[in-house]
Amino acid sequence: MIVDSKQYNGLCACGRTHTMTTEWCILEAGALTHCDEHIASHGLGGFAVAIYDENTYAATDGRHPHADVEIVLPPEGLHADEHGVGLALPQIPDGCDYLIAVGAGTVHDITRYCAYELGVPFVSCPTAASVDGFCSSVAAMTWDGFKKTFTAVAPRIVVADLEIIARAPMRLTRSGFGDMIGKYIALAEWRMGRALTGEYLCPTIHDMTMDATNDVLSSAEGIVRGELAAYEKLTYGLLMSGLAMQLLGFSRCASGAEHHISHLIEMQPEPLGLCSDALHGEKVGVGTLLAVREYYRLTDGERPRFIDYPAVSDGEIVAAFGDRLSPSILAENKSDCAAAIIAELLDERWGALCDIVRTIPTEAVLLEKYRLLGLCSTLSDIGVSEDRTDDLLTFSPLVRDRLTLMRLRRAMR
Ligand SMILES: [Zn+2]
Ligand SMILES: [Zn+2]
Repeated sequence: MIVDSKQYNGLCACGRTHTMTTEWCILEAGALTHCDEHIASHGLGGFAVAIYDENTYAATDGRHPHADVEIVLPPEGLHADEHGVGLALPQIPDGCDYLIAVGAGTVHDITRYCAYELGVPFVSCPTAASVDGFCSSVAAMTWDGFKKTFTAVAPRIVVADLEIIARAPMRLTRSGFGDMIGKYIALAEWRMGRALTGEYLCPTIHDMTMDATNDVLSSAEGIVRGELAAYEKLTYGLLMSGLAMQLLGFSRCASGAEHHISHLIEMQPEPLGLCSDALHGEKVGVGTLLAVREYYRLTDGERPRFIDYPAVSDGEIVAAFGDRLSPSILAENKSDCAAAIIAELLDERWGALCDIVRTIPTEAVLLEKYRLLGLCSTLSDIGVSEDRTDDLLTFSPLVRDRLTLMRLRRAMR
């Protein structure tokens, strides 16, 4: 399968002009064996540096793209942080013309960051269908102990070898599935934003992400059977999610309440006692189920009583997030996206919001797929105590100033 940006760039029916930096993607069994041709035919040449970790170097044995320098990072304790960048960046010689990332999320984020620092393009060779960040234009890094999103660069081209991806550890594949299933929440919330406030929504970007998510949901059986076609659907979905974010210019189509739950856990706020060693997509998968359950509970039962959206108090943030995290959370909530939502509006549009919730696959439908794949489905599965559920639902919306039904719970009694 080929994805060509020419299909997507340009003036859209939504009235805006969309562009993506990623020019071309190929998803194919054996694609890495032709990587050099793909690179050359897309105008990249000169001094190449490829970045691997030891696992992905071994996994792609015999299919290494040509590079003048190969950097193979030790996988133990390798994270997208200043340590990981510090291992890679000094090994890249002056005069490097382009980078090649051969690996999963961490190798990509490190490479993406280096490419941005050096002002050179990079080629993405994902070795596992583990996250939707391959085509992202931002790098999710931990810097000085803080999770930060850095401006970085999206890959110029993507060469996804489905044989390599299908042989990756199953846990990585499951994690990619979890990251992708979260789009059901994000997309529903985007439509809720439009229904409530007239928020801009691009139907083309919305629908292409939705189609990709539906395909991923239906790929679970094939993934269990090891079918390349199912891995292709999953990988395509993860790439499309990143490309959709490039086209849109922000992450509304790819990240909502489920990601906020995952981010809150990743931030490890001391007062809430949250932390987890789970992979990103495992946390997003659990966050998705928590959001689905809560959204159906809110909309299926007795109609809530609405109040005007109450401002988030500084004291509440400090109590939940502690001294280390509060400054950034206070800044994030300074101009609250829900500040203008009054009881009357919620009352009037509640029916429309309930209809949108009913388009999200139910918990039972999702759980069946999770169990088939063996994907984490409960907080205990990701090492978080079940009695943290209320805290997660209450405080996770505060990590990001984005209009979600989870944030609007504050206006419901
Ligand atoms: Zn559009
Ligand atoms: Zn994600």
